[in-house]
Amino acid sequence: MDCIFCNIVEKKISSEILYEDDKVLVFKDLEPKAPVHVLVIPKVHIASAMELSEDNYEILTSIFKTIKKISAELNLKDGFRIINNYGKFGGQTVNHMHFHVLGGCQLGWNPA
Ligand code: 5GP
Ligand code: ZN
Repeated sequence: MDCIFCNIVEKKISSEILYEDDKVLVFKDLEPKAPVHVLVIPKVHIASAMELSEDNYEILTSIFKTIKKISAELNLKDGFRIINNYGKFGGQTVNHMHFHVLGGCQLGWNPA
């Protein structure tokens, strides 16, 4: 299986990593859509949010704890957006579940 984000986890592809622990990795998005745009991913390969189940829901706790931690470090106290794109219509292009964290300016609201 050739997964870009698994390769980033394994450091086979370089990225600007901002945080990592045994379960979660945070790195800068290659094509930022806001002044702050990072991706928060599980280190284990989960293809999408629809692959979450009783076996792995607990990763969401780690992911959201990490988002809280890095949002403070990234000075996002005035607010930010968490996005998970799923599937074709959702615009998912990398099939390794990830949460975009976007901020650093007033965000618009025009997804369609
Ligand atoms: P999606 O469209 O699947 O929700 O988001 C995938 C995101 O991954 C995109 O915002 C894209 O810019 C980012 N991305 C794709 N390949 C790479 C890469 O090799 N390195 C980094 N840092 N980001 C990537
Ligand atoms: Zn993967």
